[in-house]
Amino acid sequence: MKLFSDFDKPESPSLPKLPKKMRILPYPDGVLFPSMLLPMEITAEHQKKVVEDAVSSDRIIAVFATKQESKNKDKNKDEKNPELYKIGSGAMILRMLRIPDGSMQVMLQGIQRVKLNKILQTEPYMIADVEPLKDKFEHSIEFEGMMRTAVNQFYEIIKQAPNLPPEIATIVNNLSFTGQQIDFIASNLKLKKEEQQQILELIDIHERLKLLLTFIERELEILKIGTKIHEDVQQTVNKAQREAYLRQQLESIKKELGESDEQTAALNELQQKIEKANLPEEVRKVADRELKRMAQIPPMSPEYNVSRTYLDWIVSLPWDISTEDRLEVDQAQQVLDEDHHDLEKLKERIVDYLAVRKLKQDMKGPILCFVGPPGTGKTSLGKSIARALGRTFMRLSLGGVRDEAEIRGHRRTYIGALPGRIIQSLQRASSNNPVIMLDEIDKVGTDYRGDPSSALLEVLDPEQNNSFVDHYLDLPFDLSKVFFITTANIVDTIPPPLLDRMEVLELSGYTEPDKLEISKRYLVPKQLKEHALKETDVIFDDSAIVEVIRSYTREAGVRNLERNLATLCRKSTRQIVTGTKPPIKITGKEVRDILGPERYLHDAAEEKDEVGVVVGMAWTPVGGDILFVEATVVEGNGHLRLTGRLGDVMKESAEAAMTYVRSRSKKLGLPDNFHRKKDVHVHIPEGAIPKDGPSAGVTMTTALVSALTKRPARRDIAMTGEITLRGKVLAVGGIRDKVLAAHRAGIKTIILPKENQRNLEDIPEHVKNELQFFFVEHLDEVLDKALKLEGLNDE
Ligand code: ADP
Repeated sequence: MKLFSDFDKPESPSLPKLPKKMRILPYPDGVLFPSMLLPMEITAEHQKKVVEDAVSSDRIIAVFATKQESKNKDKNKDEKNPELYKIGSGAMILRMLRIPDGSMQVMLQGIQRVKLNKILQTEPYMIADVEPLKDKFEHSIEFEGMMRTAVNQFYEIIKQAPNLPPEIATIVNNLSFTGQQIDFIASNLKLKKEEQQQILELIDIHERLKLLLTFIERELEILKIGTKIHEDVQQTVNKAQREAYLRQQLESIKKELGESDEQTAALNELQQKIEKANLPEEVRKVADRELKRMAQIPPMSPEYNVSRTYLDWIVSLPWDISTEDRLEVDQAQQVLDEDHHDLEKLKERIVDYLAVRKLKQDMKGPILCFVGPPGTGKTSLGKSIARALGRTFMRLSLGGVRDEAEIRGHRRTYIGALPGRIIQSLQRASSNNPVIMLDEIDKVGTDYRGDPSSALLEVLDPEQNNSFVDHYLDLPFDLSKVFFITTANIVDTIPPPLLDRMEVLELSGYTEPDKLEISKRYLVPKQLKEHALKETDVIFDDSAIVEVIRSYTREAGVRNLERNLATLCRKSTRQIVTGTKPPIKITGKEVRDILGPERYLHDAAEEKDEVGVVVGMAWTPVGGDILFVEATVVEGNGHLRLTGRLGDVMKESAEAAMTYVRSRSKKLGLPDNFHRKKDVHVHIPEGAIPKDGPSAGVTMTTALVSALTKRPARRDIAMTGEITLRGKVLAVGGIRDKVLAAHRAGIKTIILPKENQRNLEDIPEHVKNELQFFFVEHLDEVLDKALKLEGLNDE
């Protein structure tokens, strides 16, 4: 084994040998290694002096690291004689520059390690006795291996450390002395001053290398961790960037396809609604499927909205929402009594019906059908039933419905398709057990668009309506919990299969005392309330109400009556607002002042008896009415003219009347061929109203005879009945309404077909008491009663 020092064979002959006595330059910021170039800024005056003096002599100084860091920015304030490490480097000042601000820039070249033996002077700067040190080196394979490792690892560090330029690798490679290589590497690692000093103090190169390796190891580790952190950071950054980028792309693609965030929001909202709606399993499946489909349709496409509307309907229907029934029977009776005057039979029947329903929850009983003229309280009875049961009330008018689709909806393939009215009502009711009133079931028509009554049949049939399929929904909805009530003005035109399933409860028109009572107890208080009036503000005289009933309304119900009372209340409110002090009294005079001239002359019966004018009784869907049949005979050649918008059946019955009169001409005292020389004109006034039906047969015949025989007809007699060619009088319908109408009109005597005698049962007692009835089988009996004898055979 051979021991030698690097300096035995000096690399650079230009580097001078170091003297024993040297000027000292304390270095607070680090360590100067031999063979290292170190640029240094010098500001402290005493240090400048060292440098200046060195430059002016041999340029050699000894650099020792200070044990304390320099804490001062102004190096002048650094201690002049700080505590120094004992080992430093001899160095040569290669260059010195004076900077205009007074400082100095020097470039030092480290030469050799030196040991500080003794400080010889401290003023004006330190001069010391120093001893140059030689490296100790013993070559070995192990050392060689370690050295290679060190160099390779340093290369690795250069690769990874961002602050080390790659040229450093070249320098390491070209340094021929191992000691220098180690020093160089050490100076380029990020070591603390003490650590660098440790390296500097190791004269034995083997030891120095060992220490260096530990530092290298540590540095690599740090770098690895740093890289990993960097990579991790990079990865997260990359991921975020990638996502942002992809999102951007997605947005563009969606835009291109016409989709948007709005769509996503709509889909999410629908999804939530579907979750919340508690849909039956089958419905849920359909809804999920539709939602999936919708997600794939671009929102610009019409299909999208079709899908969306459909889902909106599905989630808004009360599949699973019911209101709780109250169903206390006596309470129902109380509610009905509170809301309605009289109608006792009807109320009783309704309460029975509810009682049965209570006992038998799943009652598949008939559907209630209220039949009666307008304004007789059908709707308000329905409302009371709903109130008594604690259910929601829905009203749905079937008047003029001719299209099955109105009941059952259009298939979704139609543009603008919607569910039918039943499903719509349920949606509005927000419960699956409302009271639904199907108004005017007698007015559903049938035509090429399908038969609405067959759809209604399904709705009302307790056997099938638990799975009613609306065309639009295309899903079964359970209607069995719905309380259906129907209303009609006449029974006759209700399609028979529907009628079959219904229990008909008839509401007749009201008589004058009834109307007065209803007004006083219900309509007036209701209207006062609606017009924000107190009961004491406006006081209605009974006579005023009667005036309204007689002269301003002619109806079976109380609808117009209520409307007129509303007008009176409105005017009173106005008076109060404009300064009139309440109470305002309403008498007949005020009624006339406010409502204007009388609209109906009350007593038709009080007018003069006339030839050719006969009072008939007609039945209309708005209740009964009286009508006047006029017949006039003029010179001519046997024509029969009929005017007043008469229907075919009525025309035929007029012709039958004419034929009958001709066949009885002799008995009636008419000339044989009277019909050849005369034209007969039959007219029924109020021409705007279409009239039809056979029931005016008796009246028309009587008018004809009156006109031909010049016998005046009695104005206080009203009649109805169909006639045959032989003069037989046949039964007709609507007797109750007709009689009530005649009574309202002040008629005292009524001629009815004998067969209709049984219908008198339905007529209120007090009305019957005020009327005289004649039941006839043959027209002769009618003529006897209705025509006066005077003027007979005048000609
Ligand atoms: P409809 O449905 O038969 O045409 P409504 O129920 O709309 O008639 O009745 C019209 C008005 O008359 C409502 O304000 C109603 O409260 C009132 N009414 C009808 N009959 C009665 C009655 N018997 N008692 C109290 N008010 C009644």
